[in-house]
Amino acid sequence: MGMKGKEMVERAGIDVHALIQLLNKAYSDEWLAYYQYWVGAKVAVGPLAPALIPELEEHAAEELAHAQKLASRIIQLGGTPVLSPEQWYRETTCGYLTPSDPDAAKLLKQNLQGERCAIEIYGKLLELVKGKDMITGNMIRKIMEEEVEHEQDLEDLGYNFLGDDFEKKSCGCSDK
Ligand code: MG
Ligand code: FE
Ligand code: FE
Repeated sequence: MGMKGKEMVERAGIDVHALIQLLNKAYSDEWLAYYQYWVGAKVAVGPLAPALIPELEEHAAEELAHAQKLASRIIQLGGTPVLSPEQWYRETTCGYLTPSDPDAAKLLKQNLQGERCAIEIYGKLLELVKGKDMITGNMIRKIMEEEVEHEQDLEDLGYNFLGDDFEKKSCGCSDK
């Protein structure tokens, strides 16, 4: 833990314990997003698969890098990153959409839903630390930029391959 660094955040009026909890929730989301992308890239089939797979692999690597950044910041603030996969599932906000149907179009929609959830979560976190904890704020801003990019990449693929109404078709995004 960086004692002075943590003290600065506390002095700015942030409840560090509560912030660590929120960062751990985002951390759990990132690991689940990482795996959803990673295993999706392995199982994807169908006409969209050749175009989608490299994007899924790229996003998996970026979600893992987000988890790494969050873990470092949690430790700097005196917290402990979630230590077990079971706990990821308890802490997650955006959940895990099991890619039980390997149709690439379905995977794309599931992952798109995850990105939109992530953008929402990081937007709220940014609001919470704004003007108070610039280190966490800068980190979240960088992560969020990539989530917005991920959303755009998936939308572009969706529109290009599935047509204008691709968002209207069901994604089977039911399990949390
Ligand atoms: Mg991309
Ligand atoms: Fe992420
Ligand atoms: Fe993402």
